[in-house]
Amino acid sequence: RFVSLEGGEGVGKSTQLRALGSALRDQGLEVIETREPGGSEGAEAIRALLLEGDERRWTIEAEALLFAAARADHVDKTIRPALERGAWVLSDRFIDSSLAYQGAAGGIGVERIRAINDFAIGGFLPDRTLVLTLSEGRARASARDGDSADRIGGRPEAFHDAVHRAFERLAAQEPERVRLVDASGDKVAVTERLLAELSDLLP
Ligand code: C5P
Repeated sequence: RFVSLEGGEGVGKSTQLRALGSALRDQGLEVIETREPGGSEGAEAIRALLLEGDERRWTIEAEALLFAAARADHVDKTIRPALERGAWVLSDRFIDSSLAYQGAAGGIGVERIRAINDFAIGGFLPDRTLVLTLSEGRARASARDGDSADRIGGRPEAFHDAVHRAFERLAAQEPERVRLVDASGDKVAVTERLLAELSDLLP
């Protein structure tokens, strides 16, 4: 099974991915943890182009194409081979980040991002996409505190609000695949919520 984790900055996505990975391994499953942009040698090289250096070096169109190129390599080299041998794949971000960040918030349009991704990965989609949500004020505060390689400082608050609304719309449009999960409260409780959203996929 292929599961992606999504959410804005500072919602604890990476921590929850690791916790979910161990919970699934405890059930005897083989689990691969991966991330976007990145997750394969070529895609990690593209990640460096995207996240290092001046954040204004790419136009939004170039950025969208680089994310899609990284995703094509990631699917081909890492995700598909793992799924084919029966492993579970957990990815920190996937296509829905592109739809929300470059498509909705970045202004390219969700449908044009879908078109680029159709070319890059065909109709390949996660079996489930879990979107971690925090009330916006708290998400921003924790993102500021934990600010590292991300570019929250380089983007206005309206951008992050647009990302959040885009994830809500995606969940409304594809309720079977995309689920919003409350990321507030203690870590163990959040992991339990995530697992509950996967219960129908578990063996
Ligand atoms: O997952 P993480 O929060 O570490 O993402 C790294 C950075 O990449 C973040 O600043 C995020 O906003 C950005 N990003 C993006 N477009 C995507 C995926 C991630 O701008 N499609």
